Amino acid sequence: MIYHARHYATGTPLAVAVEAGRLASVTESDRNPREWIAPAFFDPQINGCLGISFNSPDLTPDNVRAVADVCRAHGIGAFCPTLVTNSFDALHHGFATLARALDADADLARRLPCFHLDGPYLSGDDGPRGAHPKEHARDPDWDEFRRWQDAAGGRIRMVTVAPERAGALAFIEHLTAAGVVVAIGHTAATGAQIRDAVRAGAKTSTHLGNGCHALLPRHDNYLWEQLACDDLWASLITDGHHLPPALVKSFVRVKGLARTLITCDASSLAGLPPGKYRAWGTDLEVLDSGKVVVSGTPFLAGSGHFTDLCVANAIRMAGITLGEAVDLASAQPRRLLGLPVTKLEPGAPADLMLFDWEEGGELKVREVM
Ligand SMILES: [Zn+2]
Repeated sequence: MIYHARHYATGTPLAVAVEAGRLASVTESDRNPREWIAPAFFDPQINGCLGISFNSPDLTPDNVRAVADVCRAHGIGAFCPTLVTNSFDALHHGFATLARALDADADLARRLPCFHLDGPYLSGDDGPRGAHPKEHARDPDWDEFRRWQDAAGGRIRMVTVAPERAGALAFIEHLTAAGVVVAIGHTAATGAQIRDAVRAGAKTSTHLGNGCHALLPRHDNYLWEQLACDDLWASLITDGHHLPPALVKSFVRVKGLARTLITCDASSLAGLPPGKYRAWGTDLEVLDSGKVVVSGTPFLAGSGHFTDLCVANAIRMAGITLGEAVDLASAQPRRLLGLPVTKLEPGAPADLMLFDWEEGGELKVREVM
């Protein structure tokens, strides 16, 4: 199979030959294709979609496959299924079900290579905890985590923690020693607590600028501390609802392209029409704008959109190129998690997507290989 499309970063027309799931050759095309070709997205944070939540006590392997297929249609070739704050049993069920689905399906296992645990060792304060249930926010417990990691078959590769929780520093050290990427998020930490967390091994901020108080002291706050820390990467939700354009641009400029990644943080309501829904014990609402909120509050509950829309937004908001934005949503998360980065060169796995895009417009995925 030969695909004629423009290289996502250089614009060069390419003829890409794919054989047995790998790139057999990549040469210049003599045609003038309008489509683009790029590595498929890798999203570090997908909670579910179309009413299916990875956090549901009723989650089945078929549900997992259904979410992966919807994500693929949006260019997301692989992602971290993400579980959030919940009881021990609920999280154990979620990780065990994910592991069972992947053990039975090698293709699905390739598309969901590792898991993200966003909780439950987070701030219980309104604002920082976002839509996470207050009653389940708690202090880190290494033994509890180990039991989830066993249920997950060792696949939990990323954990988001609030460093101000009792025992958090030792927990971060344990995770780091075990090869798990520690993210700071849903936190009300002081500057000193954030710096201590980074010294203990924390590598990134989860959805920086969200899971925050609505009002903060203007100078001395955890956002500036995380921005100023050169050892911390940051994931940003650029769905157009979570962060205003000026903030996205400023965050990207401060962190630089080498320490930024894009996530859609798709909630279980992503892709559903406007209306009221109930998920993980909370009343949620999809507004006409596509924004997903905890009913009757301004608090966002994950995103209603997928990575393709977030990448097109990031180009406009941060003033970056198509190539740069795609890298923030494919190569960058892979680098952070220590996964192989997909390259457009012979021998590489055909983990690619074809899409339409015009300057200033949307990104429409046509095909994911
Ligand atoms: Zn979160």
